[in-house]
Amino acid sequence: VSDTPLLDHHCHGVLAGDVDAPHFEQLLNEGFSAAPRGTSHFQSPLGLSIRRHCAPLLDLDPSPAPSAYLARRAELGTDEVNRRFLHAAGLAGLLLDSGYRSDELLGTQAMSDLAGAPTHEIVRLESVAAEVADLGIDAVHYPQVFADTLDRRAQTAVGLKSVVAYRGGFIFDPSPPDRPEVVRAAGRWLHERESDRAPLRDSTLLRYGIWTGVELARLRGFPIQFHVGYGDPDLTLHLANPTLLTDLIRRLADLSVNVVLLHCYPYHREAGYLAAIYPNVYFDIGLTLNHTGPSAQPILAEALELAPFTKHLYSSDAFALPELYHLGATLFRNALGNILEGWIREDRCSPDDAAEITNLIAVANAQRIYPLP
Ligand SMILES: [Zn+2]
Repeated sequence: VSDTPLLDHHCHGVLAGDVDAPHFEQLLNEGFSAAPRGTSHFQSPLGLSIRRHCAPLLDLDPSPAPSAYLARRAELGTDEVNRRFLHAAGLAGLLLDSGYRSDELLGTQAMSDLAGAPTHEIVRLESVAAEVADLGIDAVHYPQVFADTLDRRAQTAVGLKSVVAYRGGFIFDPSPPDRPEVVRAAGRWLHERESDRAPLRDSTLLRYGIWTGVELARLRGFPIQFHVGYGDPDLTLHLANPTLLTDLIRRLADLSVNVVLLHCYPYHREAGYLAAIYPNVYFDIGLTLNHTGPSAQPILAEALELAPFTKHLYSSDAFALPELYHLGATLFRNALGNILEGWIREDRCSPDDAAEITNLIAVANAQRIYPLP
């Protein structure tokens, strides 16, 4: 496990500029807010794990005080820190979600240079919708302009992603909306956006985005990723339970379109069930491993309970902080290595089987389901 390069199939760019202490702390928590007065986001499983596993990469002893960690980080400078952590992650490739706060983050070429690994883009459907709305078009043109823009944005991409989990959750009608319905909804949304730049939450337009994505996915062999479970405060957790996607998953199975469920916590068992039952379902527990730190191993063990080994993918879901690339890889390697060693010791699998399982999850499953050049 420690020598296998990982194909990180869901990750984001890291910050190009310097990050001060309050900003760094804020990035340790998905909640967007500062820690309550008198406490710190370092006092969390993620903060603990960064101090333990990332400090040695900055030439510090494990588990320094947060202030010492941040001082050393500042002393080395952003470029050097980015380079050290990305290099240490040992990646075979990166599939980069470019659809969120991309103006602050390094893009595909810069990330590829840092990691020394090929980097490909995943296009976020809801970001394309926002881009189209910014064009100032009439509602009647929305369906075609969206389809054309998505096609153009996805020219060099290898997959699509939806964050519908954040936009009302998975309790939407799984059928494609008809064109007059889309035009009416576009009229309402484009009008609303003249006074309020709020993200797209209209169910008809979200469904239109997904189904236009499905058409493109069929043509180009793209899987469609869905954010599932644990996320930031825009999300209502129980509406991001992947079993609520079951009807859509069945329809996409009929069309041979693969669905990749991202993060999944605390629904990683539900995701494992869906992956076991439906031929087109894949999943990861990226983000979960970093944010659960010392508990990553039992959670990975739960994700391995039922799902076929051919359906589980590695990701870090690293965002903004390069530490998250290194930490995601470290926690995954430690946890999977310990679990498989236990299975071998208890005579539940052979060393060859363990090597095969490692290769599938680390790299081969992603290589099989994404149309990588
Ligand atoms: Zn992500």
